Amino acid sequence: MKIRYRISLWFIGGGLLSTLLLSLFVVYEKATLPYELIDDELLSQVNSIADFLRENRSDAEVASVLKSLSRPYWIQLFDHKNEVIFSSDLVALVDIPLKQAPSFYNVNTQAPLGQFFTGADSEEKAQFRVHFAQFDDGGSPVMLYIARPLEDLTRETSELIQSIFIGLAISSLCLLAMSYAIAGRILRPIKTINRLVREISENTLDKRITPAKSRDELHELTVSLNTMFDRLEFSFARQKEFVANASHELKTPLSILRLAMEEAIGDNSIAEPLRKKLSDQYIILLRLNRLVENLLNLSVLEFKGSVKTDRFSLNDLAMEVVEEFRPIAEAHHMTLTVSFNDRCMMSGSRDLIRQIFINLSDNAIKYNKPGGTIRYRITADKGYATVKISDTGIGIPADSIVRVFEQFYRVEKSRAARHGGSGLGLTIVKKIVELHNGTISAESVPGQWTAITFTLPILS
Ligand code: ADP
Repeated sequence: MKIRYRISLWFIGGGLLSTLLLSLFVVYEKATLPYELIDDELLSQVNSIADFLRENRSDAEVASVLKSLSRPYWIQLFDHKNEVIFSSDLVALVDIPLKQAPSFYNVNTQAPLGQFFTGADSEEKAQFRVHFAQFDDGGSPVMLYIARPLEDLTRETSELIQSIFIGLAISSLCLLAMSYAIAGRILRPIKTINRLVREISENTLDKRITPAKSRDELHELTVSLNTMFDRLEFSFARQKEFVANASHELKTPLSILRLAMEEAIGDNSIAEPLRKKLSDQYIILLRLNRLVENLLNLSVLEFKGSVKTDRFSLNDLAMEVVEEFRPIAEAHHMTLTVSFNDRCMMSGSRDLIRQIFINLSDNAIKYNKPGGTIRYRITADKGYATVKISDTGIGIPADSIVRVFEQFYRVEKSRAARHGGSGLGLTIVKKIVELHNGTISAESVPGQWTAITFTLPILS
């Protein structure tokens, strides 16, 4: 799950939990407080009635005053013989079970409250809060049951719960929108850092991420990443330097050795069997020489950030290389065909582009069949030249085609080695194409043909 969604959920969870706790507290308070108020009200009524009864009034006076006092209440008064002294009007309409304990209790009963209270709905069911009290009326003990409908209270409580649920739903939606927006805001710099890190590749290790102005955790992360890129760049440079130095150091002794061997092979005073041995070793030496040269070329290319900008005709350059290779191809009974549909002028390193044609022509002959054909095609479209060099040779298996541009990759090691191949030719080609902002790809049908196609930007 995306961090943005997770942060939103945490926000909503936390927000809802605290709102829920607050609501529970409010509901609890709202639910208990009115009972306390009603109980106080009932107690005060009981006290008034008790005070009044102690004043030794006549029965008619008692009945009339109790009647006026009892207007919203259900009241039943019993004397010490358990005979009813007084019943309020509600007693005839509402049946309330009489209990002496607990002294306060709730009763759910049928009650046409609409007849008594304006504002009460005509619903028949109602809840009453009942209080039982016993006191002395000035001579003998009396028992009083007094009750009051809780109509308003239950309605208010259910309305409150309803409002709380609506409030919770609305606040959840607000929280969702807010937390999603806040999470997006928090994560925006991380997205930027991520995009910049992706842009940094092996070839652009000198790029750095600009740290945010505020000195927060993201600033620290950016600084750490930049330090890591410093270290990576340093070790990559060291590695490339090592290869460059090693191949450079090897080049001179190899040249000396080659010259010495050439001299020895040309010396007629040396016995024939020894000369034959020297010739075989000379071929190995040439292969080694080529490998070192390729390594040096590659390391030079690795260090290159940009290339020389000669202005030249790609067609003329290609033709030059084709003519150089024609005698070699003919020696292998191979045919070279050229189809240059468009003239392409380009700007770049003529020497390096020449190297592309040499390496690809060399492969097209090396891995061709006797009597095969090598085709060169150049077309231009939308500011790019497309060069396709194809041969009717042994082809490349499908699982190797994606790897032929890797360093030292050879499909058939023994066959490639026989031709003096080291697996660096196509790597160099790819590197040169990329240095000129072009693209390269390989296609093949094993046993039938191979085509290497590359594009290069051209001058309009
Ligand atoms: P190498 O110096 O070995 O030729 P390359 O980098 O030029 O190295 O090529 C890598 C491998 O790709 C070669 O060893 C060979 O197996 C395969 N390959 C390259 N070009 C062709 C081709 N035209 N036809 C068949 N296989 C090829």
